[in-house]
Amino acid sequence: MIKANDPSRKSWVHVPADSDFSIQNIPFGIFKTSDLNPRAATAIGDKVVDLSILHEVGLLEGLDLPSGIFSKPNLNDFMELGKATTRRVRDRISDLLEENNAELRDNDKLRSTVFHDMESVEMLMPVSVPNYTDFYSSEQHAFNVGTMFRGPENALMPNWKHIPVGYHGRASSIVVSGTPFHRPKGQTKADDADVPSFGPCRLLDFELEMAYITCKENPLGDAVSTSEAEDYIFGFVILNDWSARDIQKWEYVPLGPFLAKNFASHVSPWIVTMDALEPFMVEGPNQSPEVLPYLRYEKATHFDVSLEVGIQPEGAEETVVSNSNFKHMYWNVRQQLAHHTVNGCNMQVGDMYGSGTISGPEESAYGSMLELSWRGTKPLPMTDGSERKFILDGDTVIMRGHAEKDGIRVGFGEVKAKVLPAK
Ligand code: CA
Repeated sequence: MIKANDPSRKSWVHVPADSDFSIQNIPFGIFKTSDLNPRAATAIGDKVVDLSILHEVGLLEGLDLPSGIFSKPNLNDFMELGKATTRRVRDRISDLLEENNAELRDNDKLRSTVFHDMESVEMLMPVSVPNYTDFYSSEQHAFNVGTMFRGPENALMPNWKHIPVGYHGRASSIVVSGTPFHRPKGQTKADDADVPSFGPCRLLDFELEMAYITCKENPLGDAVSTSEAEDYIFGFVILNDWSARDIQKWEYVPLGPFLAKNFASHVSPWIVTMDALEPFMVEGPNQSPEVLPYLRYEKATHFDVSLEVGIQPEGAEETVVSNSNFKHMYWNVRQQLAHHTVNGCNMQVGDMYGSGTISGPEESAYGSMLELSWRGTKPLPMTDGSERKFILDGDTVIMRGHAEKDGIRVGFGEVKAKVLPAK
């Protein structure tokens, strides 16, 4: 067992029972304050722990860490040290926060500079993202969307159960939770119109996704096998992959998503390591037809992570509109990475890979408004009396996720974004 995952560990830091940031989590993020430059941190309870200071004062010695590794504006160089090192760092941080360890606990002066209230800091993008890939790996989502456009008999394309379908997205517009963004504008064409028109998107949608981040490069020309994949995957965030459905419908043939997808994608600020999620791994679905040999895998790599989506209209209470789970994936992350590299495509440190919209089998577990309102035919009631087919200006969409087992909770916090009117 990874030491930091030990369920019997308790911390001297107070961790509320419903906190995502137990001592078994130890995620990594980047924060700043009005006085402090961007730097790396972990989270425990409702506190942010400054890793740059822990390193400076020598509490992270003996871990082969380059000087200043936690004083950078992103975690790329840290992740690139490799999982053997980052795992030892996570273990050591866990030791420092463990209830019987006095090194930090009994040093009042140091503690006062290392700890910040989570509410008092600004969380930043945890990584610089060189490349972004988005998969389409939830069978229920692919089935729902296929049913809407082609009918239930032809819902899944013939390739879908043979290939983890994906596309190359845009990295520059991936932003951290809370970053303001405007409703996109673009070309759309109504079914009864002869020519397209230009204006603000009318069918703005969220996509509930998880994303993983790679920490290792494979040389151009080399493939990563399903068994090697875990050395490449540092951890996960929650991803809201905003989509403009009306723009998408007009532009996507023949080359797929473009301006309907690249105007903004929000991520949660804390990277929960793949190590921390190991106790929450579950078997995936039985894959039939059998996949090609390069997509076969030995170890279960689906994750039982409960996910929810809320919509908060301007000045009103939030309404939860979806409860899904990351385990509802047909293709797992090992298969995605093996497929992505089987042609020799090289992964880079910081690359991000979206799961695709995660829809569960029940209607209440669908991961987009397109599905929840079934193309706008079934509006969703909000607690303020209004209803939603898609997302309106002033709405804030909030996604949360956590894993829980035997009283141990490891979560992601939230990714939140408010839609501002088109510019
Ligand atoms: Ca997507």
